[in-house]
Amino acid sequence: MRSLQHLGQEGEAESRCQENCRIMSMARKGTGKAVPWLEAHINHGSKECLFWPFSMGPGYGQFRHNGVYYYAHRFMCELVNGPPPSPLHQTAHSCGNGRKGCVNPLHLSWKTNGENQLDRRQHGTKNKGGRGGIGKITPEQDELIRALAGTKTRMELAAMFGVTHSTIQYRLYGGSYRPRRERLKGAKNPPSI
Ligand SMILES: [Zn+2]
Repeated sequence: MRSLQHLGQEGEAESRCQENCRIMSMARKGTGKAVPWLEAHINHGSKECLFWPFSMGPGYGQFRHNGVYYYAHRFMCELVNGPPPSPLHQTAHSCGNGRKGCVNPLHLSWKTNGENQLDRRQHGTKNKGGRGGIGKITPEQDELIRALAGTKTRMELAAMFGVTHSTIQYRLYGGSYRPRRERLKGAKNPPSI
């Protein structure tokens, strides 16, 4: 009886271990492909759009690296152009195909919000601000709002992004993009791998 019970406990421990290993290997898989792929395409010479082959967020390529979620186009822009000149700079697409997941380094540059909006108007991809104004905030602005939340008041952020106070409130406390919410969760509980 004792040996059977012992076997049972061992079996349970083994299956727990297998589950942990499976989760860890999935996490490694997530961190393993994206960055090498981006680095391998830094000198991508084609003028055609280069579309992100992995998972997509709300219209943009995204991936997880060391427990943090990144936008693929922003990561690529930083690889080829260096860090953004200021926290207010966004990754602009000269092709207008940002929301289709283009990460062609030749199409990416840092631009201010105003410059980027002008590009969007020219490309016909300007956000129409649907869903009660939520659409007025781009994923990059959303990221910036979160980054600035500790240093600016909601009123200041609202004025800065030309939206209402309640839109800022919504972006910070509800209805955020899934990858960002998971990233915040990840920050509280950093992965042990
Ligand atoms: Zn492109």
